[in-house]
Amino acid sequence: MFEAMARPDLIQDVVDANRILYRKGILDAFGHVSARHDRDPTRFLMARNLAPGQVQAADILAYSVDSGEPLMEAPPKLYLERYIHSAIYQARPDVMAVVHHHSPAVLPFTIARGVRLRPVCHMCGFLGGGASEGAGDGAGPPVFEIRDHAGDATDLLIRSRELGAALATCLGAARIVLMRGHGATVVAESVKLAVYRSVYAEVNAKLQAQAMALGEVTALSDSEAKAARITVEGQVERPWNLWKQEANSNDA
Ligand SMILES: [Zn+2]
Repeated sequence: MFEAMARPDLIQDVVDANRILYRKGILDAFGHVSARHDRDPTRFLMARNLAPGQVQAADILAYSVDSGEPLMEAPPKLYLERYIHSAIYQARPDVMAVVHHHSPAVLPFTIARGVRLRPVCHMCGFLGGGASEGAGDGAGPPVFEIRDHAGDATDLLIRSRELGAALATCLGAARIVLMRGHGATVVAESVKLAVYRSVYAEVNAKLQAQAMALGEVTALSDSEAKAARITVEGQVERPWNLWKQEANSNDA
């Protein structure tokens, strides 16, 4: 069988994304980054089971979007939650990269009732609206409640294709889905944008919590969020290049 190789620079982007998000404190020993295969949309690229800060190009495997399983015999140990990625690539043809993380400032917004993560600054417009503009209801990104799908005795992990599909349904057309008591999953049209959104979801969560401690909060309107997103995300190369340099500068 002809094995279509992914572009080396796409594999390197996945490696760099792991290292950047580790350095930024978005990923620790857990969490993962994937990219849809550039030559075969039925595949995606993601590391084997490894701490993100240790991922290298040789650790990146090709997986099936249909099954969430790697396209190789006798695979190494894999991430338990790989079905997050496969289910989202299956449900969202527009998505080219996925980050799943447990970043600490975002997590309270998955737990606290009666408060929603909202875009509160111009760098975080991606938190507003849906993939189709105007879809935003002002309610903030969706929150996935695993109990609605698997009862109240799970370890909260997305361990199956069925739970992955339920998470993808909850994500809908949004760019991030929060996961109650667990973390969040961010999607984007590129690895660089997925990294940007992961970093700035954390920034927004900190800002929003600080602002809420001071008083009532004004979030961006859907129109402001859209305009700010288009402006800022058009410059994604700038933070990417800086963060990539930082992430790789202290390697021994
Ligand atoms: Zn997780």
